[in-house]
Amino acid sequence: MEKIFLLITTIIFFACQHSTTQAAARPIMIQGAMGVETEEMIAALENPHEKIIHGRRFVSGTYKNVPVVISVTAIGPVNATVATVLGIENFKPAAIINQGTAGAHDPALHQFDMVIGEKSFHLDARVTEKEYPAIFSHTKLVGTYFCDSAKKTFESTIDYPADEKLLAVAREVLKDYKLGKVVEGKIATGQGWNRQAELINFFHEKFGSNCEEMETAAVAQVCKSFDVPFLGFRVISNSELHDETFDSNAPEFENFFSGEEQQKNSGINTSGICQKYALEIAVKAFQ
Ligand code: SAH
Repeated sequence: MEKIFLLITTIIFFACQHSTTQAAARPIMIQGAMGVETEEMIAALENPHEKIIHGRRFVSGTYKNVPVVISVTAIGPVNATVATVLGIENFKPAAIINQGTAGAHDPALHQFDMVIGEKSFHLDARVTEKEYPAIFSHTKLVGTYFCDSAKKTFESTIDYPADEKLLAVAREVLKDYKLGKVVEGKIATGQGWNRQAELINFFHEKFGSNCEEMETAAVAQVCKSFDVPFLGFRVISNSELHDETFDSNAPEFENFFSGEEQQKNSGINTSGICQKYALEIAVKAFQ
């Protein structure tokens, strides 16, 4: 009898140990759509281990002893969705951070400013009036559907809020950011790239968007369905309102971890600076 009791307690002890070790080891996943938005994080990892799943690149390793997985999602909401589902299923991340470049909707924003996505929404999810002639301002946002795992139903929402704790961490990490402003606001996600100032101003005024890009809301929607804490944050790499263009051919920097002022003066490397802060947010979020 005693022996059986001992055996059972030993099994329970090891089972608990196993589950806490696993929970502690769950990584923070950081996503970027393109090489230019992920390479520098990958290069900064210790013990990198690459896994290609359905053509998508995931590199796991540690940064400042924190387990992270860098996921190169590919461009656009559909690719971001696929990468997020694969990432959740294969790596069981404790949280997902989506970061990268974006175009300004807010005329107050310029290259190198940061937008912490308090919310994100699908810019293409719109409905218009049935009318002739068409009045283009008669367009409004409509909800998209996420799976509410508690209710086991699909629910509709326009805005996907970021996780409160991750927001607080991002705020803290970016409080000393010197290369531009840091705002908390709304990220608009779409399939396209808008270059018309009238349209951009309309989106900003009507929908309250601070910037546009092509992945955040899709990832936020998946994370909400899978109960994974999520944060999106973006660096302004272009503003059509100020003729500040995305320069993908700008020289890359050898060491983006030091000399931020020097980097800014040396050219456009918005995506590098965003990666640096993404890693720091992951480290602080893990604590
Ligand atoms: N050089 C790339 C261009 C990528 S643009 C190519 O040849 O295809 C699309 C990527 O940049 C997306 O991942 C999106 O998230 C981001 N992006 C940056 N600025 C954007 C903007 N103004 N509008 C839409 N997406 C933008």
